[in-house]
Amino acid sequence: MTDDLPAVIAAIRGADHITAICHESPDGDTLGAALAVAIIAERLGKQAEVVAGDPIPPFLAFLPRVDRVRSEPQLEPDVAVIVDAGDLARTGSIAREHADWLKRATLVNIDHHVSNPRFGAANLVDPSAAATCEIVALMLPELGITLDAELATCLAAGLVQDTHTFAHPNSTPRTLRVAADLVKAGAPLSAINRAIYADKPFATLRLWGLMLAGIEERAGGRVIHASMTLAMLTETGNDASASEGFVDLMGITRGADVIVLFKEAEPKRIRVSVRTSERADAVAITSQFGGGGHPRAAGCTLDVEIDEARAQVLATCERELARGDAGGR
Ligand code: AMP
Ligand code: MN
Ligand code: MN
Repeated sequence: MTDDLPAVIAAIRGADHITAICHESPDGDTLGAALAVAIIAERLGKQAEVVAGDPIPPFLAFLPRVDRVRSEPQLEPDVAVIVDAGDLARTGSIAREHADWLKRATLVNIDHHVSNPRFGAANLVDPSAAATCEIVALMLPELGITLDAELATCLAAGLVQDTHTFAHPNSTPRTLRVAADLVKAGAPLSAINRAIYADKPFATLRLWGLMLAGIEERAGGRVIHASMTLAMLTETGNDASASEGFVDLMGITRGADVIVLFKEAEPKRIRVSVRTSERADAVAITSQFGGGGHPRAAGCTLDVEIDEARAQVLATCERELARGDAGGR
């Protein structure tokens, strides 16, 4: 573990109440970690709440106590534990609409994004962790907390989501040891995998069919891209979270170095997911557009029409491939 574990432990122990805050478009890692932090806080005798600015996607409805998640903080600012957010702006509407609340709180930043600028008063940022939930699990002994099935399920959700159920190269022996402890404590690993990656409604498969039909390649097949438009969501009766997992399906393509998924959230708001082989740096691509992420998986948002987003991002992908080919990093 890097950074300031003792300061983070001291801040949590010293708090009267704790607000755990997720990043925008919450996934299993940010939500699992935030729910876990709230459970831990309550076991330490504190008041706690969980806040996510965006709605909870249906595939995470299985998480224990997910119905407690609020869209804005209601507790008085004390200690705010921000989980899995590469910077404060990634909390989305919380950073935008509750800046005063955040200023009055003591920010604790727990994350695994290499680009994290350590925006907290106390920071625990470990890029070698596969998931923020791995970091939270490793803090438990320091806090004197033992695992139970509820806590283990929350934390396992983050591991399953961020490692694609231990298939991605970010899974380390430590990740697997943490996972073994979580399963031993009662986390239903197979059911969590199914909830996150399978169990898709028929309507979602229809959407994926449209997306797959529109898949295209560039740079001799080294760049593969697909798009999800608002029209496709309307036609198939899905909400935006239905694209979750599609980028992994694209990732089964042989020979592609860059996989890009364009998601129209609003007519001029395009969320972009990028996945790369070791021959390209995903963050080098998304950081051109104010985004971030990890070397093999990153994202950004462009406030332009989807055609324009495709033109800009795909040109950047080709430049990144050329830079990688030239050994220029
Ligand atoms: P996604 O493609 O949404 O699964 O995200 C892949 C990775 O990129 C995750 O680790 C996110 O934290 C990161 N990421 C996604 N979107 C953004 C964004 N707009 N800004 C910064 N990081 C992002
Ligand atoms: Mn995340
Ligand atoms: Mn994460």
